[in-house]
Amino acid sequence: MTRLYVAGHRGMVGGAILRRLEKRRAAGERLDLVTRTHTELDLTDQAAVRAFFAAERPDVVILAAARVGGIHANSTYPAEFIYENLMIECNVIHQAFAAGVTRLLQLGSSCIYPRLAPQPVAEQALLTGPLEPTNEPYAVAKIAGIKLCESYSRQYGVDYRSVMPANLYGPGDNFHPDNGHVLPALIRRFDEAVRSGAEAVTIWGTGMPRREFLHVDDMAEASLFVLDLDRATYEANTQPMQSHINVGSGRDISILELAQLVARVTGFSGRIETDPTRHDGTPRKLMDVSRLRDMGWRAGIPLDRGVAETYRWFVDHRDAFR
Ligand code: GDP
Repeated sequence: MTRLYVAGHRGMVGGAILRRLEKRRAAGERLDLVTRTHTELDLTDQAAVRAFFAAERPDVVILAAARVGGIHANSTYPAEFIYENLMIECNVIHQAFAAGVTRLLQLGSSCIYPRLAPQPVAEQALLTGPLEPTNEPYAVAKIAGIKLCESYSRQYGVDYRSVMPANLYGPGDNFHPDNGHVLPALIRRFDEAVRSGAEAVTIWGTGMPRREFLHVDDMAEASLFVLDLDRATYEANTQPMQSHINVGSGRDISILELAQLVARVTGFSGRIETDPTRHDGTPRKLMDVSRLRDMGWRAGIPLDRGVAETYRWFVDHRDAFR
C-alpha cells in the first residue's frame, strides 16, 4: 500500500491529479490517498505542517499547493506570492524529508525562465538571465522550490522531482475577472458579452504576446508519468542541478488568436479591442518539451477542444461565479 499525500487537492491541478489517482485506486492500485483542505491545514504554518507529517507519515508527496494568479494578481500582491509560496515549499519539502518521505513531486511554472530566454525554452535556460518583472516574486519562489528538491536529493539521497507546466487551464479554473489567468478571464468576459449583447470585448495588453496553453488533465497525466519514472530514467534525462522537467503542449498562440478562439467557442461575433495600457508581460513563453517527449509523454488535448470543454464547465457552474 502506498500512502500518498496530495497537497493542494482543492486547486485546479491538484484536483485533476486527485481524480486520476482515485481512478487508479478504483482500478485496483493499492493507494491510500491523504488530503487536507486549507482550513484543516495551513501549509504556511511550520508547526502545523510538522505535526501533520508526523501524524500521517505519507510515503509519497505531490506538492500542487501554491498561491497562483494571472498577471494582474502577481503585480498587485507580490508579497503574498513570494511569501506564501516560499513558506509552502519550505514547510512541505522539509517536513516531508523529516518524516522520511523519499519520493516527492513539486509543481512549478514556466515563469521561472528568463524573460527573453531563447524560444522554445529548454530546462537549461534556468538562471541564465533576468526574469519578467510582473511575476518575478512568484518565479523566485518557484525557482527556490526546484533548488529545495535538488538540494535534498543531492545531500540526502531522496528522490524529489519538479515539473514546470505551461499556462494551465481547464475545469475548476479561477474565473475571477481580474485575478485569474487570461483564458478563464476571456471565457467569462466573452460569455458575459454574448449574454448582454455587447458589441465589443476588450482584452488586456496589445494581444501580441504568445503563450503556450496546457489542459489540466494533460498536466495531471504528465505529473503522474514523471512521478512514476524509475530513478535511473529520471536521472539519465535530467542533470543534478537542472533536474526539473518542462510540461507543455509544444505549441503557442498569440493572445489575440486566443481571444478569437474564445469568441468562436462562446458565439461572440462582435469586435475585439486591445488595451495597450495594460501589461503584456513576457513577449513569448513557449517551452522546449523534448526532455519529456524523449521519455515517452506528449500532450493529448488540442486547445480548441480543451477551450470548448472548459467553456461548457463554466456554463454549468456560472451561477457560482456571481
Ligand atoms: P502570464 O502568462 O503570466 O503573463 O499570465 P496571464 O495569463 O495573466 O496573461 C497572459 C497574457 O494575456 C498577458 O499578455 C495579458 O496581458 C493578456 N491578457 C489579455 N486579456 C487578459 C485578461 O483579461 N486577463 C489576464 N489575466 N490576462 C489577459
